[in-house]
Amino acid sequence: MAAPAPALLPEDADPTFAELLAGRPHLSLHAHDGLTMEEVPLARIAREVGTPTWIYSAGTLRRRFHALRGALEEARLPCEIHFAVKANPNLAVLRTLAAEGAGADIVSEGELRLALAAGIDPGHVVFSGVGKTPAELRFALAQGVGQINAESAEEVAMISAAAAETGRTAQVALRVNPDVDAKTHAKITTGKSENKFGVPIAEAPALYARMAATPGVQPVGVAVHIGSQITSGMAAYAAAYSALADLVRALRADGLPVERVDCGGGLGIPYRHEPAPSPAALAGAIRGALGNLGVRLMVEPGRWICGPAGVLLASVILSKHTGARRFVILDAAMNDLVRPAMYEAWHGIVPISPAAFHAPATPCDVVGPVCETGDTFARNRGLPALEPGSLVAFLDAGAYGAAMSSTYNARPLAAEVLADGARFAVVRERQTQDALLAAQRLPAWMAA
Ligand SMILES: *Cc1c(COP(=O)(O)O)cnc(C)c1O
Repeated sequence: MAAPAPALLPEDADPTFAELLAGRPHLSLHAHDGLTMEEVPLARIAREVGTPTWIYSAGTLRRRFHALRGALEEARLPCEIHFAVKANPNLAVLRTLAAEGAGADIVSEGELRLALAAGIDPGHVVFSGVGKTPAELRFALAQGVGQINAESAEEVAMISAAAAETGRTAQVALRVNPDVDAKTHAKITTGKSENKFGVPIAEAPALYARMAATPGVQPVGVAVHIGSQITSGMAAYAAAYSALADLVRALRADGLPVERVDCGGGLGIPYRHEPAPSPAALAGAIRGALGNLGVRLMVEPGRWICGPAGVLLASVILSKHTGARRFVILDAAMNDLVRPAMYEAWHGIVPISPAAFHAPATPCDVVGPVCETGDTFARNRGLPALEPGSLVAFLDAGAYGAAMSSTYNARPLAAEVLADGARFAVVRERQTQDALLAAQRLPAWMAA
């Protein structure tokens, strides 16, 4: 006999649609137009642009950037904000943030090109990543990037070679691995000793001294980034920053210059009802450990700024009933939004029409059409009956959403839209079926 299902604890209950909207001021339900971002009804975007489509709120990007900057200023921290481009590399998103004064944290030549195209000064670009190629390093140095974060002794040698070839001096920060547990999903933890990132903090002083003696390399400071979607409070940050402060003092005691400390990103957001760490708490952790060192501080947030600003709009293809289960099959899939498949991530899924928003919700599985069981966005999620063609929005899809899309199952990349007040514009066209085929070639021996 099957064991009785355990009763749901209140904290295990999903938030209601109304609760989800209450925490997201750029989204509101209008009696006639339905779910609206800023002043643009999402149904109108669906009519004009189709689905699936990513939609970003410019106002939310600005508001969150200002909230973070305000918290840092409030704590009287001289701190630059470098937006982590990998979270959302859309050019209009980058331009929106650049206009507010954001620099960029990049991990590839492609991201550097995007940051420059968005109008970000190369001096406000930090180049991170464990495996920058010689060509990427040469390109970055030729463009005059403000800082390269080195992750190993081997990489310092590569940076030196690239500096010699381009006739530039590289301003290099050493990324250390503080061996702290950020208590986030294993796939996005980066600050533990078994992770591939950074150099062990115990080896940092010797390497930093070697950097100071390496031609073309100017050591400017130290950096950490301990993980992503950190919602477990400030303990891991505080531990990492205090280890970093000890390191700075030790380096200076050895007569080595340390002008900058890069505090990384990782601040989490509430997708469901996770405790949301505030920018003020982060500023407090930075100030507590690093505030008195007389260094230029930097943070590299991605998700916290752009995650809540975006939705993924999708249409219901059909609802299918097998036994007692109801499957709602959408025209969006894991190739568009991979986070549920990759990280077991929870995203709010809200119907767009006022009638569906208020109709009684019953459990269903929400899936995409891709031929993988992993193409499941949610199990036992409460949704109303949804006719083919009904619209739903995935909330908090502005970070690691479109950025991680693929064309798996030969599905074209979805369109991206920026909403700003009552205006909206397509900022990335939907990939065409022709474009999907265009780069493929048959070998000559098959052509006949
Ligand atoms: C991914 C990454 C970030 C941004 O992380 P978020 O969790 O989006 O804030 C910052 N710095 C580095 C080095 C990264 O790899």
